[in-house]
Amino acid sequence: MAKLTGGAIMARALKDQGVEYMFGIVGFPVQPIAREAQKVGIKYYGCRNEQSASYAAGAVGYLTGRPGACVVVSGPGVVHGLSGLANAKENCWPMILIGGASPVRQNGMGAFQEERQVLIATPFCKFAHDVEHPHRIPFYVEMAVRNSIYGRPGATYLDMPDDIILGEAEEDAVHFPARCADPPRSTAPQENIAQALDVLKTAQRPLAIVGKGMAWSRAEDEVRAFIERTGVPFLASPMGKGVMDDSHPLSVGAARSHALQEADVIVLMGARLNWIMHFGRPPRFNRNVRIVQIDIAPEAISQNVPTEVALVGDGKAIVGQLNRALESFEWFYPGDTDWHKALAEKAAANAKQIQPMIDDESAPTNYYRAFRDISPWIPDNAIIIGEGANTMDIGRTQMPNRSPRTRLDAGSYGTMGVGMGFVLAAAAVHPDRPIISVSGDSAIGFSGMEMETVCRHKMPVKIVVLNNGGIGGGAAALPDDPLKAAPGHLTVGARYDRMMEAFGGKGYFVTDPKDLKAALDGAMKFKGPALVNVQLHHAAGRKPQQFGWHTA
Ligand code: ADP
Ligand code: MG
Repeated sequence: MAKLTGGAIMARALKDQGVEYMFGIVGFPVQPIAREAQKVGIKYYGCRNEQSASYAAGAVGYLTGRPGACVVVSGPGVVHGLSGLANAKENCWPMILIGGASPVRQNGMGAFQEERQVLIATPFCKFAHDVEHPHRIPFYVEMAVRNSIYGRPGATYLDMPDDIILGEAEEDAVHFPARCADPPRSTAPQENIAQALDVLKTAQRPLAIVGKGMAWSRAEDEVRAFIERTGVPFLASPMGKGVMDDSHPLSVGAARSHALQEADVIVLMGARLNWIMHFGRPPRFNRNVRIVQIDIAPEAISQNVPTEVALVGDGKAIVGQLNRALESFEWFYPGDTDWHKALAEKAAANAKQIQPMIDDESAPTNYYRAFRDISPWIPDNAIIIGEGANTMDIGRTQMPNRSPRTRLDAGSYGTMGVGMGFVLAAAAVHPDRPIISVSGDSAIGFSGMEMETVCRHKMPVKIVVLNNGGIGGGAAALPDDPLKAAPGHLTVGARYDRMMEAFGGKGYFVTDPKDLKAALDGAMKFKGPALVNVQLHHAAGRKPQQFGWHTA
């Protein structure tokens, strides 16, 4: 009778459960898992740092609807991989971290890289478990996959000791559960749907906020139908961008602050009133704002602001219910109200305020002038990755998204260093689409070594670094004594483009904005990975903000 090793059982179980992508770094004891995964047709991407690998696994989960896998060595490998678990937890993204572990028979003896891994993974996970026998692996894999995608999506962890990976089980004794079905789409009670529309009908200044819960539930058709049927203006959260086309006439992203501040009824669609949304509280929000909230997680309802109508369940299903109810509901928010006028005026004023920076041809350049060339250069079907402080914040306003799940950034956890992992994830999932990453110079440093990974995998990704020589900003020149430099200052004019060239990609260094367009076009024409390193003025910044708490 045929015997299977733990590594082979793991690979087959993952494949059975619809896990298609694995990122990681091999070594003791997980090498056989990655090898067996390749044999069953799982795409394996060998990374240079476990953080990137784990960020990639979470992003794959978000992009595909099935968890990405990340495989890491015992002890320090698992510790590094915790970064991606935490990022996935905070963003509500499905992933499985598979940690190699020292052999069970050496537990407590001070084994090589021995660590209490299930314990340290648990705070970040919906499900974390050790595997105690090879024949139980498929059971745990199915549990991990189901937990990662059912309800609010999230992170899971499986601990694989060396002797389980190398151990064997009779093939007949191993039960491989059927593929876990995609998440059930639960609806809201019909009376709540009616209540939601009744609240909406009373609104003077309605607003919809579209979050990544809508992107995850693939509710884009329903959300568009809802917005267009009701005429309600909308805003996207940072990664909710693209569920609705940013250039839609009802988008009020260009008057975001005003919209949040003045709205009297908000339909909160798969988004949280957390720090990104200033907790939904004054002065950023209207004190008397009434909230209609759609969320898969009941415990998310009323967080920070009491929700008046809670629609708990799947976003796509519930917005579909709202749309059906609207068929026999006589109401439409008119297109000519003072609210629309005020939002349009505010958007025009904001545009006017940044125009001088957009027009500024001086060298080195500023963010807005750089985005003047970058934004039109990005193809409509691109996946856009953004990280860095100003680079990401200004990029959110200056680079529009046209379709859902095309924006990845530091997200709910505000994680810097995710960019290269997300580049890997996006290129793996969408080999047919342009992958564009626009990163700050500090941000690219966290995982810049993954440039080798993208070159090795021949991923034709395009990376733009907006390089102001520091965290937040840099210096015109560093002092002779490096210990006298400000803590956030980095090398002036650092050649990140040459890092890309070192591994076989193409690099461009732009010191004058008049040369930016040609460099971007050259990068796009180049068949492989390319990096355009754009020197910015060391003190380039955002447009002046009306309130201190905008940037707090
Ligand atoms: P954003 O950063 O876009 O505001 P958040 O991550 O803060 O998004 O919030 C997303 C919300 O979407 C979470 O509260 C999560 O529970 C919810 N969510 C996840 N999946 C679904 C789904 N299928 N339907 C509805 N809501 C969902
Ligand atoms: Mg910088």
